[in-house]
Order: sequence, then structure tokens, then C-alpha cells
Amino acid sequence: LQTSSVLTTEPLTIDGIPLLGFGTWNLKTNCSEAVSWAIQTGYRHIDCAAAYGNEHEVGRGIADGLLNTDLTREDLWITSKLWNDHHDPNKVEAAIDDSLEKLGVGYLDLYHMHWPVRSGSLGRNYIDYRDTWNAMSALVEDGKTRHIGVSNFSPNQMENLLNHTSHTPSVHQMELHPYLQQTDWIKWHEKHGIHVTAYSPFAGTNPTYQPGDPEHLLKNKVITKIADKRGCTAAQVALQWGMARGTSVIPKTSHLERATENFHSLDCVLKKKDLEKIDELGKAHHRFNNPSKSWGLDLYEGLEDSKGEHKKHS
Ligand code: NDP
Repeated sequence: LQTSSVLTTEPLTIDGIPLLGFGTWNLKTNCSEAVSWAIQTGYRHIDCAAAYGNEHEVGRGIADGLLNTDLTREDLWITSKLWNDHHDPNKVEAAIDDSLEKLGVGYLDLYHMHWPVRSGSLGRNYIDYRDTWNAMSALVEDGKTRHIGVSNFSPNQMENLLNHTSHTPSVHQMELHPYLQQTDWIKWHEKHGIHVTAYSPFAGTNPTYQPGDPEHLLKNKVITKIADKRGCTAAQVALQWGMARGTSVIPKTSHLERATENFHSLDCVLKKKDLEKIDELGKAHHRFNNPSKSWGLDLYEGLEDSKGEHKKHS
């Protein structure tokens, strides 16, 4: 039987991007300690954003993690994101400079446009995200980031970028987990040579969980049964499933022991039939992160569960 093939003895990267990353949204009280711990545990990919309001603490964690290992900045893949209030092309450079300063690094590996949505006192979307994108392209030329990417874009918006700008995104970060699989959408990116990163790989678990949502993913019997059978935990199974699809995954935790547990998803070997069983959970078609209503936009037009309720904006 074919098995998922991600093992710590094999290269940990796809397209140069470490497959397993560490998410930092909602990482609050022990943020620096958790990031440092993550680096010491083996994570090489840290996912940050200006909007998370903790880049300074994350930066302290990065410095501490490097100090406590033989690693240098170049060994890490550090991602941040341009928030919606800095879409004006004249504000883009100041935004990345602020993230670089807070994170305490000279360059980013990847800078995302967090949403295809401009916000601010003059209303939404009076600035074309293609102009923002062109300003982001200049950051690559200036050496401030090695790559640029997008997040939460719809098919039309992606086509628009590809057809009307000269820089193809290196990465698209989007919500992906067994309840929202978006398989055709991932294939579209494969065809265009764009890497996909899965955010919320545990499907919007606490604190965003609400009545009417599908069962807590890490308590779902399909997942827990496979976990028991393969000697892994439910979290490790969910992450391994994501990596086996060729997407990088960026779980967040503020618990050090969970950071270690999640890292060892790299050792969890699943069989093809396990992956197929998890694929069946995709019938839930459930998106947890949709601010369309509160922002007055149709954010995920043409995608799975585009009409879901607004839950969070990270
Ligand atoms: P996750 O799917 O990573 O789930 C995080 C939740 O799972 C937390 O409540 C955490 O609790 C819990 N958890 C973590 N590990 C375990 C474990 N081993 N066992 C049980 N529970 C666990 O959700 P996020 O929404 O945070 O997504 C991950 C990252 O993706 C974010 O941190 C951010 O970097 C990025 N993101 C990007 C978005 C975008 O718009 N581009 C949107 C949303 C997220 P605890 O901390 O208490 O351990």
C-alpha cells in the first residue's frame, strides 16, 4: 500500500518551503517563549502577520531560538503579511519595514497580501489590489523579501493577478483542513506553479468554535481511529494529511508540549486508505473564516462554502 511519505529523515521542504510551519495568530502571553521553543524543537518556518499584533514578541522568540541553537537567520523561513490598511502602493514599503524591524530580521522569505481587500477611512477597495501587488513586487527587487504571495484570494482575483501583473505569486495561503479540502483549487495552483499553504489545519478549533460547526476535528472518530491505529495523535494525523497533499501546514499552539507533538507529525506515517477516509470528511464543506458579511464583500466567490458565516479575520 502506498503511504504518506513525509518523514523526518527526508527533506522537509517543498518548493524550498519547510512543509511544517508554526502559526502565530492569537499567540499571546507566552509568544516569545513558544516561538523560541518551536525553533529549538525543529520548526524552520514561522508564519507571522502585522495584523496579529505580536511581531515584536515573535521577533524576540526568533532571536532566542537562534541563540539557543546552531542556526542562523538563513536557516529559517519567515513569512509576514501586509494588512488591509496598507494597500496604498505608497504605504507598502513602510509596512514591510515595520514588520522587519519588529521581527528583528533584515529580510523576509515571503510577504503575503493578507486579503485582496483594502480597508480604511476612505472605504473598501478604492485601491486596486493589482497596484498593491506591483508595489510588493518592488520589495523583491529591493531585497526586502525573497518572495511575495497572496492569501484568501478568489479564482477571479488570481486570474486577474496572473493576467494583468508581471509577478506570479510564489505562494497562496488559504484555509484548508479535512472539512474544507478545496482539492480542485489546489490543483489549479499546482498547474500554475504556485505553492499552497494551509492555514487553520485543525479546522478552526477553540476559540472560534461555534454551535452548528462540524464536530471538533481533533475529536472526529475518523481521525481518532486512524490516530490510534497508526500510533499517532489526532493532531498529527490532521497535519500529516495536509502535508501528504503537498501543502505546507502552519498549526498554532501556545502549549510547548503541543508544539512538540505537532512537530512530530513528520514521523506519523499514514496509509493510502487512511488518507482516503479523511478525504471523505470533505463532504462537510465547512469554511470557518469568512468575513464577507461584515466587510460587505463576496470574498470567496466561486469557491467551496463561500457563503459561510463570518467567524474571524486573522
Ligand atoms: P489551527 O488550526 O492551527 O488551530 C489552533 C488551535 O488548535 C488552538 O486553539 C490551539 O490551542 C489548538 N491546538 C494546537 N495544537 C493542538 C494539539 N496538538 N492538540 C489539541 N489542540 C491543539 O488554527 P489557526 O486558525 O490558528 O491557524 C494556524 C495559523 O494559520 C495561524 O496561527 C496563522 O499563522 C495562520 N492563519 C492565517 C490566516 C490568513 O488569513 N492568512 C487566517 C487564519 C490563520 P492552544 O494554542 O491552546 O494549544
